[in-house]
Amino acid sequence: MYISKSSRILSSSRIKFMNLVKENILKIKPYQPGKPIEEVQRELGLKKIIKLASNENPLGPCPKAVRAIKDNLNSLNRYPDGNCFYLKRKVAKSLKINSNNIIFGNGSDEIIDIIIKTFLKKDELVITSRVTFLEYKIVTLVNAGKIIEVPLRNFSYDLDAIRKKITNKTKLIFIANPNNPTGRYVNKKILEDFLKNIPRNVIVVLDEAYLEFVDVKDFPNGLNYLNKYNVIVMRTFSKAYGLSGLRLGYAIARPDLVKNMEKARQPFNINYLAQIAGSACFNDKVFLNKTKKIILEGKIFLYKNFKKIGIKYIPSVANFILINIKEDGLIFFEKMLKYGIIVRDMKQYGLNNYIRVTIGTNRENKKFIEVLKKMLKR
Ligand code: PMP
Repeated sequence: MYISKSSRILSSSRIKFMNLVKENILKIKPYQPGKPIEEVQRELGLKKIIKLASNENPLGPCPKAVRAIKDNLNSLNRYPDGNCFYLKRKVAKSLKINSNNIIFGNGSDEIIDIIIKTFLKKDELVITSRVTFLEYKIVTLVNAGKIIEVPLRNFSYDLDAIRKKITNKTKLIFIANPNNPTGRYVNKKILEDFLKNIPRNVIVVLDEAYLEFVDVKDFPNGLNYLNKYNVIVMRTFSKAYGLSGLRLGYAIARPDLVKNMEKARQPFNINYLAQIAGSACFNDKVFLNKTKKIILEGKIFLYKNFKKIGIKYIPSVANFILINIKEDGLIFFEKMLKYGIIVRDMKQYGLNNYIRVTIGTNRENKKFIEVLKKMLKR
């Protein structure tokens, strides 16, 4: 009897596939991506959607990056430069460091993966906060590592508690500074006291994805610690440069660390257009200042209105704010979606009555407050 190719595939699916999968992968809760905006719009019959869910730049992508991409589309037949020569040179010059201090990643997400692959040996541990960027945990587990998650103190990383968890098995400590999703930060004094007391076999990763939005004087610049301690600084083009969709992040560290991280990445991990765009827009002060201005203005507007409405918020130094809506955040998120606004619920962090809202344009912030008032009947 003839068995078509498709039915052969169907019958093989009866085999117990689960036995094929590594145990550390089976344990991971899959990442739940949201539906595409267009699909939500279609399903709910909405004319317009305001997305305040992923801490993106409300002004759009940096125009210099867009222009450079348009001008270089005809070179896509060539492989990209596997070493990001020009991009490294541009960033190094601007930050007054050397090219061998920098490694690029397909978003800083990939940098996390490269760090863990390069440094975390069998039976060694990662420490981070319980309420922070989830990729530290996911990537550790994917790489069969173990992770200790330390509770927050007043919505901030508790570095004293983290230090107490360090043993001779600890290899990496991830600190998001500013922290996502709380928007709080570790100040210079606290960070320096912490670094002084870290054993030499431990690497501290300072994830500065939101650095460009920070508006406080006592914020520590991770680059000042590269030579004194085992520190790796992570940064990204996804937020302030408005290039989330392009995927470009980087790490800065001592050459001996970078040299080994380079071995753990794919040979052409940074696509051609990302390299071109990154070189064109890095440190574009006009765009960065415009972005910071709109975020700071938006923050003042939102704080003022939260106070008026009587909503508790966590003061943030980033481009998003965690707010306590005193009811189930997931239900609230779904209701808000019906008004055409996407925010982020915090259930996965155990912050059931909170939502995180990204600061948008003035018009988007106004609409958000209008809907918030309506929903809370204020
Ligand atoms: N670190 C933090 C703290 C983040 O919030 C994010 C993105 N949400 C990232 C890193 C990853 O950014 P990307 O991969 O887009 O560079």
